[in-house]
Amino acid sequence: MGEYLKHFWNLRFQELKSTLEVNHFEVHITSGKEEAKELVLGRLIPQASPKSISWGGSVTFIDSGLYDDLKHRKDMEVLDTFDPQIRADEKYELRRRALLVDLFITGTNAVTDTGKLVNLDMIGNRVGALTFGPREVIVLIGRNKIISDVDEALMRIKNYVAPANVARLKKKNPCAKTGYCEECQSLERICNSWTITENRFPGDELKSCSLTRIWDFESDRLNARSMEAKPLHTAT
Ligand code: SF4
Repeated sequence: MGEYLKHFWNLRFQELKSTLEVNHFEVHITSGKEEAKELVLGRLIPQASPKSISWGGSVTFIDSGLYDDLKHRKDMEVLDTFDPQIRADEKYELRRRALLVDLFITGTNAVTDTGKLVNLDMIGNRVGALTFGPREVIVLIGRNKIISDVDEALMRIKNYVAPANVARLKKKNPCAKTGYCEECQSLERICNSWTITENRFPGDELKSCSLTRIWDFESDRLNARSMEAKPLHTAT
């Protein structure tokens, strides 16, 4: 990345950090996935001292190597809801129990310039944990998730993020064929629960609410602003 782009992103990150901090989020900016992994493993987890840990869907969590490291930890209870070896009923129960872990790690579908997190979830365990339950929540955010406002986030998530995730997950929903949301009623529909996290509840009883830590880091993936939001496509 050229120096001028680094300078541009640094300005944007600092502004977004300040906005998110006004909304009571704790924010860390790192230079890339490796530094983000070091931050989580070397600082945030030791600070949180969790007795139990789990996670929700996040490509960044996998790509950074955090998942490969944390799933083998022996110094805390690990509720690995990504484990392909466990049965569907076991996974369901793990997801339920994961809502009460000490530390939950996830991603977000979008963060707005006004410091709001916008998410659309299939099962609801990810947005559930983001909202309430775990003592602490870490949200990993690449710069490709930065969107100007909630309206743009809603449009982009439904017409770009969701169809792309359907393709990634190899589901057979109609958007996998057309590239647009078709408002399907598929049993494998991944778009079921929206949340907009405007602010982190900062009350005194911090141990009983989610402490969300957020940081942005350089992502190899596309900047969201290069993706034009497409009009909602309706099946005929
Ligand atoms: S509602 Fe259905 S068609 Fe639309 S993006 Fe979600 S899974 Fe795809």
